Amino acid sequence: MDFDYDLFVIGAGSGGVRASRISASYGARVAVAESMFLGGTCVNVGCVPKKLFVYGSHFTEDFEDASAYGWQVSQGNFDWATLRDNKTKEIQRLNGIYRNLLEGAGVTLFEAHATLIDAHTIQVGEQKVTAKHILVATGGWPVVPEFPGSEHAITSNEAFYLPEFPKDVVIVGGGYIAVEFAGIFAGLGARTTLVYRGDLFLRGFDDSVREFVKAEIEKKHINLLFNSNVAQIDEQADAQGQARFTLTMADGSQRTTDLVLYATGRKPKTAGLGLENAGVALGDNGEVLVDEYYQTSAENIYAIGDVTDRVQLTPVAIEEGMCIANNLFTDNPKKRLNYQNIATAVFCQPNIGTVGLTEAEAVAEHVGDLDIYESDFKPMKHTLSGRDERTYLKMIVRRSDDVVLGIHMVGPDAGEIIQGLGVALVAGATKAQFDATVGIHPTAAEEFVTMRSLSRTA
Ligand code: FAD
Ligand code: NDP
Repeated sequence: MDFDYDLFVIGAGSGGVRASRISASYGARVAVAESMFLGGTCVNVGCVPKKLFVYGSHFTEDFEDASAYGWQVSQGNFDWATLRDNKTKEIQRLNGIYRNLLEGAGVTLFEAHATLIDAHTIQVGEQKVTAKHILVATGGWPVVPEFPGSEHAITSNEAFYLPEFPKDVVIVGGGYIAVEFAGIFAGLGARTTLVYRGDLFLRGFDDSVREFVKAEIEKKHINLLFNSNVAQIDEQADAQGQARFTLTMADGSQRTTDLVLYATGRKPKTAGLGLENAGVALGDNGEVLVDEYYQTSAENIYAIGDVTDRVQLTPVAIEEGMCIANNLFTDNPKKRLNYQNIATAVFCQPNIGTVGLTEAEAVAEHVGDLDIYESDFKPMKHTLSGRDERTYLKMIVRRSDDVVLGIHMVGPDAGEIIQGLGVALVAGATKAQFDATVGIHPTAAEEFVTMRSLSRTA
């Protein structure tokens, strides 16, 4: 059968754009549909605007720290509209770059919603087109649990476009987005409370990191309410200067605030896609189920990125897109991503950077064979500024073969530092090789090559 396209990609986000471009570069006839924003979540309401806000929010401390270095700087007035709108301009610039990338690669772009009519036919806007292969790269969408007044809560999507900056904000959740936005709002001057349902936030991260981040965040006057949840939100009359919402907590206590941000996870965007018309099986959370090479239960349909509800990170979606292009349109050996040792950063303040196993995971697999090295110090910058912010490093080593299994850091630029060390872990570096590496002085990162005294065995 003759198809209109060799590959039709639904979603021009991190994964979809990469799969489209690279497939087209291999000579495939490719089309991509995007219903909302070119570049997807990361560019529009994710990584990029978030990081710009993180930069913006750190100036408060930078102004304070400057005086010990001889600078007379007044705190200045923060203008939310300037930050918000400059960020939006930058995103519009990036949208244009994504358009040029696709067009330059010869990809046909449909700026329309796409649904599947059958396994080879796509309804895109008013048109019907056919394709030999289809790639579902539709990403995810924030979820707010349902409870009385939950419609008053916003999500990270709206946080990037707030008409007014709040004086007081309550953030619910304990994952990446909750802790990152707590730092952003607090840094920009809002009284900030983070409500998390469990004992300690950042479940899944190394326990020492979680405890350390808790202590550091508390120093920044962010109110942490653990083992807590919101039961009801009531809107009040928006009188001048009055908080807009009353929150009734699960324990019956009440508090008022101007803004409630829910960061309680994201759901794969599969509703209304017509996947059932093509025999694509979904999991319990609505995620597209795929095999190790991203193939769904329909032979010619593939899925990558957040819609598969596995590792929700931009570089993962991108690499999965590279694999799809390679596997469908080259004669090279089939590729799939190695999901071990994926480095990641949380842009809370200070940042978390991490790669490899947590101590708990290492203990579960290698108990009795582990050496744990740690370091906890005041960053050099704060010896003058006097700021009470500390840096934490941990290295987990398997004693029997000296292989480094996990590296964790909380501190300024932890993401930048751990990116490099991720290469060492992927290469299977040993502690002896770290020790044989000459440090760069004076840096915080040099501590990773000078860790000589064992904290404990496990
Ligand atoms: P997306 O980028 O979400 O793209 C999917 C696209 O499909 C969207 O543009 C959508 O409009 C489109 N679409 C959906 N349905 C249809 C349809 N039927 N027809 C046409 N188009 C459709 N990751 C990091 O690595 N680092 C970070 O710092 C980071 N920060 C984040 C901060 C926030 C606030 C959020 C929400 C996420 C963050 N992430 C971060 C995660 C990252 O954004 C995602 O993992 C990544 O964008 C997933 O890429 P994707 O291609 O799977 O989906
Ligand atoms: P996460 O899944 O990371 O965290 C969700 C949080 O919400 C958890 O603490 C969870 O608690 C809590 N939660 C879930 N349901 C409820 C509920 N009904 N009531 C109260 N709390 C609830 O999701 P995020 O929304 O923070 O982020 C989505 C994903 O996007 C991340 O997992 C990450 O992959 C990606 N991302 C990456 C970033 C980066 O790379 N820097 C930045 C931002 C996002 P519990 O732990 O108890 O389940």
